[in-house]
Amino acid sequence: MAMTEIVGHGEVIWGLHSGLVSGQWPHAYLFSGPPGVGKATVAHHYAQSLLCEHTLRGEEGLSGCQRCPSCHKVDTRCHADLIWVEMVEKKTRISVDQIRDLTRFLSLTPMESKWKVAIVDDAAEMNAAAANALLKTLEEPPAESILILITSRPGMLLATIRSRCVKYHFRSLSRDEFGRILQSRTELPEGRLDPLWEYAEGNVGYGLQFITSNQLEVCDQLVQDLEALMRQFSLAKLCQTADFWSKEDHFLLVRWIIGQWIAKRVRRSVLSGEGAEVVRRWLVLESLAKDFFARAEAYNINKRLLLEGIFIKLSQTAGANP
Ligand SMILES: [Zn+2]
Repeated sequence: MAMTEIVGHGEVIWGLHSGLVSGQWPHAYLFSGPPGVGKATVAHHYAQSLLCEHTLRGEEGLSGCQRCPSCHKVDTRCHADLIWVEMVEKKTRISVDQIRDLTRFLSLTPMESKWKVAIVDDAAEMNAAAANALLKTLEEPPAESILILITSRPGMLLATIRSRCVKYHFRSLSRDEFGRILQSRTELPEGRLDPLWEYAEGNVGYGLQFITSNQLEVCDQLVQDLEALMRQFSLAKLCQTADFWSKEDHFLLVRWIIGQWIAKRVRRSVLSGEGAEVVRRWLVLESLAKDFFARAEAYNINKRLLLEGIFIKLSQTAGANP
């Protein structure tokens, strides 16, 4: 990764960089902000600049030199003075054992660099025991240690943890910032920035996923199908559409796009002054759809039937099926 990949977040980068230049930084940070906005990318670059063999004073901006062995080791996540704690696959929370490993790691003297850096992503996933273990380390931070907590839900952290961290909030990216990041990482399909920005809700991670999995056309198709159902009700068409979109490989995407489509429809009816009754109908539909999908997940409900139910409600709410 190169420095140019950090787009947006000017204030955050300025703050971190000033610390590097002055040689003064806190023991603990809290990076918060929406998912996929670039918190982990900035943490990665910051760790690199702290551990780099050449640039200890931020001469090259908020990144290492990108040439020394240390910078490469951070890229491949095998630097002896850096630890990333994340949720282990198939586990539901970050465990106390993972945090104990982290605190043990931080208490040792640095091996390759002058500091030890620990990153927890997502910190809100820590279970209670893990959070308490982390709090102890925050209360008495080991020398030469830097801890970076990353989360999109800072409210889920213990207040005592939050209060011991210097906080950096990452705001959502603008459409242009979103476009620039995507372009620096992948080939952006011609003329597709706007729908992509919309489908991914400004989330770079999702945007990349939409491109690499070729799902943009699939999303377009689904939106077209939804709009066709809203325009003119036909039971045959409804069943056919539900059948097509209930296939396993489409289903997560369908849930995402339908939720987004209804939310957009709610906004439109509020903004265009369609009246309280119309707004209320769309809001009812919004919570109903959420409920349907949550049940489908919990009870393994037949997906085709579930979509038929949602489509019928959708067309009724839109007035296409009185
Ligand atoms: Zn370097």
